[in-house]
Amino acid sequence: LHWSSSEVRSTFLQYFQNHDHLFVPSSSAIPHKGQGTYFTNAGMNQFKPVFLGTVDPRSEMATYRRVVNSQKCIRVGGKHNDLAEVGCDLTHHTFFEMLGNWSFGDYFKEEACKMAYELLTKEYKLPVERLCFTYFGGNTDLNLSPDTQCQDIWRSLGVPSDHILPFGMKDNFWDMGNTGPCGPCTEIHYDHVRPHAAGHLVNANSPDVVEIWNLVFMQYERHEDGSLSPLPSQHVDTGMGLERMLAVMNGSHSNYDSDLFTPLFDTIQKASGAPAYSGRVGADDAAGVDMAYRVLADHARMYTVAITDGLMPSRHGLGHKLRQLIYRCVRYTQKVFHTDPHLLCVLVDLVADSLGAAYPEIQQRKELVKAAVAITTENYLQLQKEARQSFQKMLRQEQCKHLTGERVLEITEGRYGCAVPLEMLQDLAEEHDVSVDVADFEHRLEKSKEQQNTAPLTAREVFSHSCFETLQQRDVLPTDDSFKYIYSSTQS
Ligand code: ATP
Ligand code: MG
Ligand code: MG
Ligand code: MG
Repeated sequence: LHWSSSEVRSTFLQYFQNHDHLFVPSSSAIPHKGQGTYFTNAGMNQFKPVFLGTVDPRSEMATYRRVVNSQKCIRVGGKHNDLAEVGCDLTHHTFFEMLGNWSFGDYFKEEACKMAYELLTKEYKLPVERLCFTYFGGNTDLNLSPDTQCQDIWRSLGVPSDHILPFGMKDNFWDMGNTGPCGPCTEIHYDHVRPHAAGHLVNANSPDVVEIWNLVFMQYERHEDGSLSPLPSQHVDTGMGLERMLAVMNGSHSNYDSDLFTPLFDTIQKASGAPAYSGRVGADDAAGVDMAYRVLADHARMYTVAITDGLMPSRHGLGHKLRQLIYRCVRYTQKVFHTDPHLLCVLVDLVADSLGAAYPEIQQRKELVKAAVAITTENYLQLQKEARQSFQKMLRQEQCKHLTGERVLEITEGRYGCAVPLEMLQDLAEEHDVSVDVADFEHRLEKSKEQQNTAPLTAREVFSHSCFETLQQRDVLPTDDSFKYIYSSTQS
């Protein structure tokens, strides 16, 4: 490996600082009260007030013109939910770092593209023949013309014409919602395999061509009636995935071949005695071991950052998503790695080692993270014990070899003792050679949700104590108020 994660990060931050950008630290990965109900999913989240024109004129943010940062991002739930991809591919994580530069009413397209081009080709020294540039191709329904200005800029910088490609709204037009600031974007993709290819695999979901950087030009405001008007001042908002850039710099298709993941893999391997990680995906990874390595390492970074930033595993909202993620890790330690789930806490130390220099709060709060993860793991094991008892009780009563959707619903709702989560039920059924009609169950679950017209108390909501409460009882919560504050704001 030629490049370390810290070199890729600092090269970006330094380049823009050398071009008069102010470094602004990452905001929390967990939204504060009133700042949304999803995880922080992009670098721009903390700067929304600037784009919306609602920034307090006395605040420091009001003075920002050129900014650079590296943002802790989580894409689980909400508009961007990458959970289904994570582990299956080599380029999507639940937690990742987004490197970004901003112009707030300062430079616009020309300078933004010029700097991006110079950074990629001169500092990172990427060969231009491997890069492809997309621009907004227009939309007749919405009366939006193609961003030929952007196309011309890339051409003038020396990019061959066949490496500059138009795409539609989905890939090359950015908005914050149905109303508000929006605009075309231009994205930069890297072709791992075919230099000089005319970019036919761009945005085609090919592992060979990866999107590395998105440059958004905020130039319109969209109104209630859908019409667009020019913004009084224009902004630039960019985001580059650090893990993807690092893979590109090391000539690898995989974000996992880097110092951010290798130490985690090594530790999982040593603890479990499993075959070493070998980078297989899909059908090549028949036993799913490499996938399990990726999921465990990815999720360890996510739960470490999320808990550091004030979220606690719990029964509701984001806390519930976090808990599910930890539960999934425990399940992998048992089913695939056949090892003590305490491994989840060991991984926290490694994540703190790799990210602690860039985000010191991760080092500072790692003992708390480990305590929360340990409690969540204990909860899972306890639930598993009770689930087994319930399942066996059901089998004694019903003596069946097949579970209908209706029966599954009953079991998950606690008819035979504790409410058994579906995944756990599937494991138990497999163990007892019983088949499960999952599709019918899911259908019924949807229907029962509709009937109740509110989210029902799900089978998973079985603990009378959330992790937060247990931590409180054990007196291991930091005195720092931000925790309680953030926790309570994400619970409602
Ligand atoms: P993709 O099309 O690959 O899902 P995206 O278009 O959703 O990416 P953007 O919202 O444009 O991504 O975010 C900017 C950059 O952040 C991307 O160009 C990519 O480098 C990086 N990125 C986005 N999602 C992830 C993720 N889940 N894991 C790692 N990096 C990501
Ligand atoms: Mg995406
Ligand atoms: Mg994309
Ligand atoms: Mg994109």
